[in-house]
Parts: sequence; C-alpha cells; structure tokens
Amino acid sequence: MQKRFSILVFAGHDPTGGAGIQADIETINDLGGHASCIITALTAQNSHNLQAFTPTDPAFIRRQFDLLASDMHFDAVKIGMLAAPQIAETVSDCLAGMPGLPVIFDPVLAAGGGGSTGSDELIDAIHERLLKQCRVITPNLPEARRLSGMQQTDDCAQSLLESGCRNVIITGTHDSSEQIVHRLYQDDGVVHSVNTKRLPGEYHGSGCTFASALAAHIAQGNTVERSLQLANTYTINSLRHADRQGHGQLFPVRQQHRWPT
Ligand code: PLP
Repeated sequence: MQKRFSILVFAGHDPTGGAGIQADIETINDLGGHASCIITALTAQNSHNLQAFTPTDPAFIRRQFDLLASDMHFDAVKIGMLAAPQIAETVSDCLAGMPGLPVIFDPVLAAGGGGSTGSDELIDAIHERLLKQCRVITPNLPEARRLSGMQQTDDCAQSLLESGCRNVIITGTHDSSEQIVHRLYQDDGVVHSVNTKRLPGEYHGSGCTFASALAAHIAQGNTVERSLQLANTYTINSLRHADRQGHGQLFPVRQQHRWPT
C-alpha cells in the first residue's frame, strides 16, 4: 500500500486557524503529506494578536510521543511554538529517540502581532538542548538575535551554527524593506539566499506555512537549498491568495488547487 510522507509536528494551537498547528497540518496535507500532531500549548488570540497561552503538561507530551513512536514511522519532525522550557527539554528527549531524522525548527518567540511566546528560560533550554538536534532552524532576525545574543545577521547565523544546528535560515519578513531576503547559512560555510518582493498587508501564519513547507520538501528527500526555494514559492503563493477572516492580519490560503498556474 502506498504511504504519504509523514511529519511529526510539535506546535501550539491557534484558534483563529491562521497560524500554529492548523497552518502546519494544512500545509503538509496540501503538499501531499500526513501530519501527526502533538500540541504544545493552547493560545487565546484573534487575527490582531496573541493574548495568552497555556503550555501542555510535558509528561503528557511524552506519553503522546511514546505511543506515536511505538507505532508510526516519520520522515521528518517540524517544531513550532514550545511555550515553556520544560517542553523544550521534553521535545529534546523525544528527538533523542529518533536519531537521523531531519528536524525543522521554527523558534516561535513572538506571535505575528508581537505578543511574546518565549521567556529567557525557554531560550536557554533551546540553546542548551535543541539546537544541536536540528537539521534546520528558521528564525526571523529578531528571533535570531534573541537566540544568539548577536546583532548582525551573519554573526547571529555563525553563532547558531556553532551551537550545533546544521543549517540556519534567517528569514527577512520582520521589517518593512521592499525586498524580503531569506538567507541560508550552512555548516560548511556556504550561504544561499532567496529574494522576493514584499506583498502589501500583514499575514497571520506565514512563518508556520514557510517552515512546514520546508519540512515537507525535506521529508521528501530534497536538499535544504532546494527546499528553501520550493517553500518560499509555496508561501508566496499562499499569501498572494490570502483572505480576510477577521479584522486584523490576513490568512494564507494553503490550497494549491486554487492558485492559477
Ligand atoms: N504558533 C502559534 C501557536 C501561534 O499562535 C503563532 C502566531 O500567532 C505562531 C506559531 C507564529 O505565527 P507566524 O507564522 O505568523 O509567525
């Protein structure tokens, strides 16, 4: 029997449906894969901003993982919001049981509207435990600065590579420059970049869409460089067709069949 590629996702739930675990599931399904999901936190938010969140009990996350791992085979792991240092540690323990699997980590330290989702203790746990287990991390520049303690993009990337992550993609969505530049830094010293013209408007879930699309392409055996190009194109298309579900940020439409070719 044929089996779709399969991704284990650790991420938070955004009840608007624009970001978080729903963005991950929609993207992975749309790209032809299956997503198995462990929810790290519930959030209270709307399309303007995130107000509050409640982390999941880490012991329950572990229990969910053990049952999945005893039964299913995954091609990649995608991590989003971790919500608490104990969850970062638990996820790291889970990953230790799956050596060799590509791990794509989008370190969600703030919601699209600016609400913080990352304490200093969480940053420490990510630094000490998780980074060295990741094939790729996808911080935007403010997240890369917080994670590395550096200022310049190149210095942030170098420091994060030295923490053991094999590929660092610093995304350029956070500022208001006309061109968005995503820079991929690899542990062999190679740097690639993709540029796109910034679309008007603000979007809820664009980072989740990008990182999940990246995970989907890596899960299918593509190189990180090729997956960056494909994930960038996928994300832009989903934003070009974004719709207005609330009064704040626009929601990506993660349905390729609705995009004209
Ligand atoms: N994960 C969750 C649960 C969220 O609520 C959010 C933003 O609100 C994000 C991730 C990140 O969203 P974005 O892709 O807009 O950066």
